[in-house]
Amino acid sequence: MRCTSCNYALWNMADRTCPECGEIFQPSQFTFAPGRVRFSCPHCDEVYYGTSERGHLQPAEFECVGCGQRIAMDDMLLSPGDGVREQDTTPGSMPWLQRQHRGVLMALFQTIGMALVRPRRLMSGVPADASVGESLVFGVITTVAVYLVGGIVPLAMWIMGFMGPGGMGGWGMAVFFGYYILFGAVTTVSVLLIWPMVAHLALRITGGTEQGLDRTIQAIGYSAGANVISAVPCFGMYIGWLWWLVSATVMVQTAHRVSPGRAALSVLAAPLLAIVTVIVVINISVFAATTGGAFGGGWNPQQQNTMTLAGAIVNYGWQNAGNGPEHAVELTLSGNIGPWTFAGATPAPSPFLQPGTKTTESDLPVGTGSLADFVKMSRSARLGEIKTTLDAQPAGRVAHRFGDFVFTHHGVDLSTQDPSLWVVVMLPDPDVNGPPAAVDPVYIGYASYQVHEITYGAMAQELATQNQYRTGLGMPPLPDPVTVTHGTPAFAPATGSPSQ
Ligand SMILES: [Zn+2]
Ligand SMILES: [Zn+2]
Repeated sequence: MRCTSCNYALWNMADRTCPECGEIFQPSQFTFAPGRVRFSCPHCDEVYYGTSERGHLQPAEFECVGCGQRIAMDDMLLSPGDGVREQDTTPGSMPWLQRQHRGVLMALFQTIGMALVRPRRLMSGVPADASVGESLVFGVITTVAVYLVGGIVPLAMWIMGFMGPGGMGGWGMAVFFGYYILFGAVTTVSVLLIWPMVAHLALRITGGTEQGLDRTIQAIGYSAGANVISAVPCFGMYIGWLWWLVSATVMVQTAHRVSPGRAALSVLAAPLLAIVTVIVVINISVFAATTGGAFGGGWNPQQQNTMTLAGAIVNYGWQNAGNGPEHAVELTLSGNIGPWTFAGATPAPSPFLQPGTKTTESDLPVGTGSLADFVKMSRSARLGEIKTTLDAQPAGRVAHRFGDFVFTHHGVDLSTQDPSLWVVVMLPDPDVNGPPAAVDPVYIGYASYQVHEITYGAMAQELATQNQYRTGLGMPPLPDPVTVTHGTPAFAPATGSPSQ
């Protein structure tokens, strides 16, 4: 129990005025560790101990069992209990809030030290009505300090690397430092404001809290002291964040008196969301870059089946020494064609049928029946049908049709992922849909998984370019995919090696 204005020890005094500075006080203003402080009757010295949450007497006013006089808590003489050190009479200790007495630097280092090794006691020392602003000031100071100190070694190496001949000029350095400072500011604000908000929301969702958002901001703001480990060169960055997470969890748990599990969940919510967001953003960019982006066009859902099938062919090649399947129906076994299921309960559209065409599963011959029969069969029955299909395939094909797709991977070494070689072309089955119009879209899938959209009117020119490339690789030319039907696969011209 220290004077709030001069830090003078106020034990064992009947007078309610600080002898040092004249400040008036009442014991009930202070919070004590329950059972650690001795309250003595001012009339008969009978001793009582405070058992309330704030270490106060319960009830606050009563008749003394020693002398029978009516006494109140604020009338009594207070002293640390037997064998209790003065610093243990408070439930916590919060050096930062006593920086006027301790000195700002000392208070800063002591608070950092407690955030590292005694986070529970540190948070217990933050009064419920303490200012949020002070915790944010502390959080900003420590976070910025860690960022500057931790960045000095890598930054110095960067600068030395760019100062040499042909290095970055003064203007480049200014831009670089601008980004460094901007990044630091954004990170600091996110960590000290957004993190506690997400954590508090998680606490609300998982069962609510007695205390408000202020308390969560204080817990995470003061826990930032534990992040100083991150500033230690070399190994600091690997354990600093972990130490911080543990301290923040303990402090949120102390602040809200919730279970360790709920505290951990709430503290981890924001970091996990951030990681998921980064992964999603990276995947979307990679996806956009590998599909159409490389050809200057945007991705559209119509390209999906072509990309799925091109990917399935290339994956099949990886599993089979660079060779693609003899027939596309084999792809149904390789597990690479996505959400299409054989269950039949939810009729997901087959990837061999392009959305918007008249082609149905009954139009695709498989074994002794059609794909419509095939999807309803057991796995072993399907294996039998695939064998029947493969046995019926003539040798020497360069392309075959399955549904709305013409497969052109025969003879292609799929292990090279050649971005110029066609492996599959989406051109609706002419037996069902009739011949395409010049403006109809055609999707070409490459051995590099990429998909290129053209119109059928551009087919002759695209095909000539493709066949020139194939000739350069010693491969036979492809015919117009519209001429490739289920009944008439394409063969290499008979001039070369004999083929069926
Ligand atoms: Zn005083
Ligand atoms: Zn008494």
